[in-house]
Amino acid sequence: MNSFLFNDYIRYMKTTILVSAAILLTANSFAQRKMNMDSLVKEAAKTEIWEPVPAMVTPGKNNGDAPSDAIILYNGKDVSQWKKETGGEPGWQIDKDGALTVVKGSGNIATKQAFGNCQLHIEWREPAAIAGESQSRGNSGIFFMGRYELQVLDSYNNPTYVNGQAGSIYKQHIPLVNASRKPGEWQSYDVVFTAPVFYSDGKLQSPARITVFHNGVLVQNNVTIMGHTEWIGTPKYEAHGSKEPLVLQDHGKDGGNPMSYRNIWIRELQ
Ligand code: MG
Repeated sequence: MNSFLFNDYIRYMKTTILVSAAILLTANSFAQRKMNMDSLVKEAAKTEIWEPVPAMVTPGKNNGDAPSDAIILYNGKDVSQWKKETGGEPGWQIDKDGALTVVKGSGNIATKQAFGNCQLHIEWREPAAIAGESQSRGNSGIFFMGRYELQVLDSYNNPTYVNGQAGSIYKQHIPLVNASRKPGEWQSYDVVFTAPVFYSDGKLQSPARITVFHNGVLVQNNVTIMGHTEWIGTPKYEAHGSKEPLVLQDHGKDGGNPMSYRNIWIRELQ
């Protein structure tokens, strides 16, 4: 073997040894990694929860459509889910387009069913024919448990006290922004409401809370409701049932032109 061939041979042997060592090391670290992964998977499994499985709910086809587990409160056809708040048939009218429109002076309407914690979807429209100003322009309201008002008002170019504009929790919480659409256009509220809880002696255990999206825009972020809605004075709590009817307001003759509602559905929450 000449020196040239000998050097080649040495180089070949070196490479072979290095490659073999690399293969061995790789196999070893692969086994090590697999072992590590197995123990990681076991560790991760300790914080996995598999039951109970959340119920299957079919969502509505479009945003705003009721999902399969919602209670339909108004679908444009009848007011069978509603009564006059003070009793009897609701006096509001169903228009040709299916809108449920306030009849001034006929009184508030209330759901026959009572609700506590809930998710509510409701659509409303201020009259295109503007009448009045400030609080006297399309004033209505959604009273959770018949007591806690989420204000409904034409707040498109209509200055008023800001804790009384659309999206406010009336006289308690100013909306984060004004997401109002023009009068004549349909608007929506999507709400998560947590009912207050009272001790058996009537004292407040935990206050109500509310989150509101106005036309898809967050306007109330889990705010604490301070008591039932007051026009004059400070709100305070008075004990009531764990479920109470939802009420829609007829603001009467000083509320401006009559406004309308449609597509109202609710989901009861634990
Ligand atoms: Mg109102």
